[in-house]
Amino acid sequence: MQQLSLNTPAEGFIDITGQVRKIVAAGNVQNGLCQIFVPHTTAGVTINENADPDVVTDMLAALGKMVPDLPYRHSEGNSPAHVKSNLVGCSLTVPISEGRLCLSTWQGIYFCEFDGPRSRKVWVNLVGS
Ligand code: ZN
Repeated sequence: MQQLSLNTPAEGFIDITGQVRKIVAAGNVQNGLCQIFVPHTTAGVTINENADPDVVTDMLAALGKMVPDLPYRHSEGNSPAHVKSNLVGCSLTVPISEGRLCLSTWQGIYFCEFDGPRSRKVWVNLVGS
């Protein structure tokens, strides 16, 4: 398993596609799966368009509207970030074919920060032959 280390902003989608591609290119899996796992409860990982940066800005705005300002019980005060993390999810599986990630033209892999700034980790595991 490989680990990426990120220093994140307060909130944002960070494009990690290039870093994941490098791990796949350096690995010895020609055909299989790339699992990307975020070991945090106030962050996530997702795939979205990487051509227009306004798409992920819109995603943050939409998630902000979807998660209400409730009288949350969690004393840390970051319950909206926990909810957004669950909405986005903490893992992805992307196919690998001929030693390369199978993403379409407009797809990018994004680490999603909802409670930064923090030092974060992303674990990348290659499975296959
Ligand atoms: Zn918390």
